[in-house]
Amino acid sequence: MAKKEPKTINEFLIIEPIIGYREWMYSHDKDHQLKLVGTGSGNNCFWEPGINIAKCLYKCKKAPNFKCSCGFYALKYKVDLFKELFLPSPTQFYASAGYSVGYNNDDYSIYGEVELTGKVIEHRDGYRAEKAEIKKLIYIDMDKIKLEFLTKYYKVPIVYYKDYFEMVFKK
Ligand SMILES: [Zn+2]
Repeated sequence: MAKKEPKTINEFLIIEPIIGYREWMYSHDKDHQLKLVGTGSGNNCFWEPGINIAKCLYKCKKAPNFKCSCGFYALKYKVDLFKELFLPSPTQFYASAGYSVGYNNDDYSIYGEVELTGKVIEHRDGYRAEKAEIKKLIYIDMDKIKLEFLTKYYKVPIVYYKDYFEMVFKK
């Protein structure tokens, strides 16, 4: 998600969840279940319904580590999510062994709101969190069958991006 490592500005232990905004790829796991896959060096893994706990791909015992790039990434501001939704450039992500993800194409991206808890490191534009739960998904272009699979699996609202904008701007 982040094109370059942002500068860390703060570190918190969060009890009240904070909302962040982010992007995933989607792909099938070994059991052919369609799931969201984290993008970026800090969270390249399948996301599950409920609370996900970040694991470091490097050496940290616990993610996120202040001196590392691990943890679940999320943007702070909705406006940055909007920018990302309209970016013409392909999604940047790092495929790692074991995941059948091989596309750098926004057609394979899905966006959403996440609730962050546990240890959270604050950056200028976003966060790196220990725990993250998907609360809402936002799609641009996805076929109905895939949408149904994801709705059933994650049990969260899935909203078309234009409807999401309208919901946000009418607030
Ligand atoms: Zn780490």
